[in-house]
Amino acid sequence: MAQELFLKNYMEDCVWELLDKVLEQDPAACRCPACRYDMVALALNNLPPRYVVREKGEVYSKASMLEIQHRADIYTALTKALAIVKQNPRHES
Ligand SMILES: [Zn+2]
Repeated sequence: MAQELFLKNYMEDCVWELLDKVLEQDPAACRCPACRYDMVALALNNLPPRYVVREKGEVYSKASMLEIQHRADIYTALTKALAIVKQNPRHES
């Protein structure tokens, strides 16, 4: 049976997962979708991609997702991204 394979930037999942933790540290930060996407996009542009081959329907455990060093890098990238978005929010006021 043919498998449906696709590429996935695993770093993307990691950044989304840590976004809420970074936002918790800054109650004043905006949480609207526009700002959240901007923060993730900015952070991802400053992080190396980690492509993996995945199979449709396959379930991946989150526990195996993050190496400690990556966590620190992602956290730093997200903190910087949050500061940038806070200064230049693109959401409609
Ligand atoms: Zn916003």
